Amino acid sequence: MSSTTGTTTVITNIATLVTNDPSLGDGSPLGLVQDAAVVIDGDRVAWTGESSKAPATDNRVDAGGRAVIPGFVDSHSHLVFAGDRTEEFNARMSGRGYTAGGIRTTVAATRAASDEELEANLTRYLTEALRQGTTTFETKSGYGLTVADESRALRIAAAHTDEVTYLGAHIVPPDYADDPAAYVALVTGEMLDACAPHARWIDVFCEKGAFDGDQARAILTAGRAKGLHPRIHANQLSHGPGVQLAVELDAASADHCTHLTDADVDALAHGSTVATLLPGAEFSTRAEWPDARRLLDAGVTVALSTDCNPGSSFTSSVPFCIALAVRDMRMTPDEAVWSATAGGAAALRRTDIGRLAPGAYADLAVLDAPSHVHLAYRPGVPLVSEVWRRGVRVV
Ligand SMILES: [Zn+2]
Repeated sequence: MSSTTGTTTVITNIATLVTNDPSLGDGSPLGLVQDAAVVIDGDRVAWTGESSKAPATDNRVDAGGRAVIPGFVDSHSHLVFAGDRTEEFNARMSGRGYTAGGIRTTVAATRAASDEELEANLTRYLTEALRQGTTTFETKSGYGLTVADESRALRIAAAHTDEVTYLGAHIVPPDYADDPAAYVALVTGEMLDACAPHARWIDVFCEKGAFDGDQARAILTAGRAKGLHPRIHANQLSHGPGVQLAVELDAASADHCTHLTDADVDALAHGSTVATLLPGAEFSTRAEWPDARRLLDAGVTVALSTDCNPGSSFTSSVPFCIALAVRDMRMTPDEAVWSATAGGAAALRRTDIGRLAPGAYADLAVLDAPSHVHLAYRPGVPLVSEVWRRGVRVV
């Protein structure tokens, strides 16, 4: 095959290939091809199909009968932080009360950390995620909550990913406890001006005790006026206006979606907002699972993501979330793998990732297993044996 970039490589002898392109392979949403090959030209996929039909290339890699899937797209994480919350988790899981300040504990540690400490922490968790097959991640600010600390978090994140989200509206910080309206004014004013150049997205934690529907609308609308696209932490701990606001504002994603009315499900089914489910949070807080089956059966596009953060979901493992989704949220193994790859891409409004079809980035994971089903069938086992990002083997 002639190259537009210099070098072509074929990965061949793939037992099961997940393309996420129904027009390839078996016609299912996963576009499965058995005994498959992928041809990479530079940083892109040039061809996928049956091994026996693969075009000639410069280099050849034998997958040895393993499965290949698109790299995971983790569309929701909070990785710019310092400190940890082991005591809080231990108390919660030991049935003891814990009265310390949750997010505020991380805010204090993050404000006190140097740029170098925050960057080192971020790099450590990104490396951890990459080893587990994550080739694209979104990450947020939200543990600074001052103009300087929020903009610094975004600047640090933007050095590692294009999918950066301004979450100045994570909680109202203690210094504004008596005047939340003044904090909303800051988030939509001076803080937004400082943060917008470093971010693609704007997010708000729309929940009792955080920001109500009117505040969330004001924050997301202000962000949109500065060129940021909305996404929302919605309906995590209780019913609320977040999901319907997300659909109304054409947010790319409503994240959590644990407590939904029929009207919420209906709005998602008729809008273009993805429902992103984050089962690591329910696992780590022993909370009720989101009803994935209800959303899927209504025709909603569902993404699956880690919500990696030091308080409520300290896992960087998408395979772990897939196993939870299959075991406890009644997703099929096929649905869970789709949601963690193509679903994550949809939640970031991307079509160049999350699939292995000609033109997409050559971001993929090789599994030490004959099929993607093993991700749920063999929970907790490190099955990701190789990771390729932009056409280069990085793990
Ligand atoms: Zn979150």
